[in-house]
Amino acid sequence: MLILVPHHAAATIRQAGPWGGMTLRGNHEDLAVIRGVSTRDGATFPVNTSPGQNLIAATGDVRASGYWYRVAPVLHVYWRQVSGRLGTRVPLSVFQEHLTSGYKKPGTTPYLALTYAPNLTDAFPDHNAPDIVAWRVGRDGAYPLNCLVEPSTTGISQIQDHWPVRDLQTAHVMLVGAGSIGSATAHALAGYGIGHLTLVDPDRLSWHNLVRHTTSRRHVGRSKVTALAEELTDLRPDTTVTPLVLDVIDDADRIRTLLPQSDLVLCTADGVAARRVTGHLARRAGIPAVMACVLQDGALGEILRLRPWPQHGCLTCRRQALAEHGGIDPEPALDAGYGTGTRHRPMTAVGPDLHLVAHLAAKTAIATLLERLGHPDQRLPGEHGLISLRRQPDCAPPFDLNRTGETRWLPATPPRPGCPTCETP
Ligand SMILES: [Zn+2]
Repeated sequence: MLILVPHHAAATIRQAGPWGGMTLRGNHEDLAVIRGVSTRDGATFPVNTSPGQNLIAATGDVRASGYWYRVAPVLHVYWRQVSGRLGTRVPLSVFQEHLTSGYKKPGTTPYLALTYAPNLTDAFPDHNAPDIVAWRVGRDGAYPLNCLVEPSTTGISQIQDHWPVRDLQTAHVMLVGAGSIGSATAHALAGYGIGHLTLVDPDRLSWHNLVRHTTSRRHVGRSKVTALAEELTDLRPDTTVTPLVLDVIDDADRIRTLLPQSDLVLCTADGVAARRVTGHLARRAGIPAVMACVLQDGALGEILRLRPWPQHGCLTCRRQALAEHGGIDPEPALDAGYGTGTRHRPMTAVGPDLHLVAHLAAKTAIATLLERLGHPDQRLPGEHGLISLRRQPDCAPPFDLNRTGETRWLPATPPRPGCPTCETP
């Protein structure tokens, strides 16, 4: 059996005196969560669990009650010694003599107990026993139970000594496109600790999306951004997610007013027009844009970083420069998307390949923000990244990646004279 002790319950037990009662809620998987704690004078403390934190706390249908006691540290050393040895127990007399006060004699059915040993690390610095442990107390002795105490800190701040958490918590990224690449990109951005994420996509989740999307089946029919926002909030509560059911082309005026609040826009939407509009609006707003897509029927992943710098051309300028040098112009093919699995539009890319590109896109976005915030160790090798998902030896340079998994980074190209995006109006 496992007993979960929410942080709030542990804090009460650590402060509330020598002993008290507790109520638990459990399920039939031998799992119980502390839902209430009381003290010996009868004061009760309902245990708050953060929203969505534990399903069992809200839905468990097995109710139980028990006691908690303040104990001498050596009892937890005994707990450690008998734990993991099946059927071993601490004699009831030994359990009782280490309690400060309040001992309850077990009846015919055993009861659950938590014990709290203050000053444990001072008394036994090398023993590494937890300060709160669980027991099943019966007439034949006290059996150790597994128990998990929620730490005071969880989430992205756990890694703040090794990752610029504070810098990224104040950053804001707009993500245009919440499809197969977009959904995985959103998860990756939240995993990096982006503080604010705005999701833009007009589409609803359909059954044919499930094979490549990160969102679960129970959201079919809902708008992709709303479902994705809900799942992200559950999984990565440190990221504030704003879902917008908008189309970057039809609602370009709305997007234009929102972009200045973002530090970067990332576009994973299908189609030439959506990519061009996003690139154009970002350039006008003076913020960097990152475009991610898959080319050549799923053989090649591509990341384009478009920074609003005078020497860096836009998406169209980049494509034209490559075409002039004999490269392909893959933009028109992007209008077909990655297929729906119907006879007319076969599926051309497998989910995890798209997610690999998504993660590289998120990495590019994060590296761009961090480089600007003074983290030169995040500098990327170029502005145009290619990753081979399937070898493509006959493709024209620079798309001629010949080994699966190979990546290539290329520099930006300068703006063409007269370009309506690159030239200041
Ligand atoms: Zn241009």
